[in-house]
Amino acid sequence: MRVDQLILFDLDDTLFDSSSQMRAGHEQEDVQRIVPFPGVLSFLASFPGKKALVTKETVLGLQQQKITVLGVGRFFDDVFICQTIEEKKSRFRQVLAKYHPEKCWVVGDRLDAEIRFGNELGLKTIWLCHGKHREQKPQNGLEVPDAQISRFTELHTMFSSEGRS
Ligand SMILES: [Mg+2]
Repeated sequence: MRVDQLILFDLDDTLFDSSSQMRAGHEQEDVQRIVPFPGVLSFLASFPGKKALVTKETVLGLQQQKITVLGVGRFFDDVFICQTIEEKKSRFRQVLAKYHPEKCWVVGDRLDAEIRFGNELGLKTIWLCHGKHREQKPQNGLEVPDAQISRFTELHTMFSSEGRS
């Protein structure tokens, strides 16, 4: 299948404010109250291309709970819950091979994970500079994002101009 556009999303601190809403050791309590960032549901509902969610598990079963509570699962063509950070890159490859997108973006909050893997695969990378990883500095050229945003809502602007170009 060949598609025009594909976006690969991270979950924590990309689709919701994990750094503020989830406390270590209180996961089962906190996960019940998480909410998506403003603009997430409307963006996912209106973006016309394919969307994949690629997230790493830290506590068994917790990522699926987050997806359920946030109500975002239905918007994604593919969801992968990875056991290691490196597995994200192989999932990115897998999704690329499935859809052969003309244009592909990665959106995430970690320069040393989503952004690096996206750059290594030649994708367009968008760093959501938010939460506990916001002070990260690129360690090399592969960790430099193509674009940096501080709020998820900025994606609406970026992609509405993309649609016209
Ligand atoms: Mg994250």
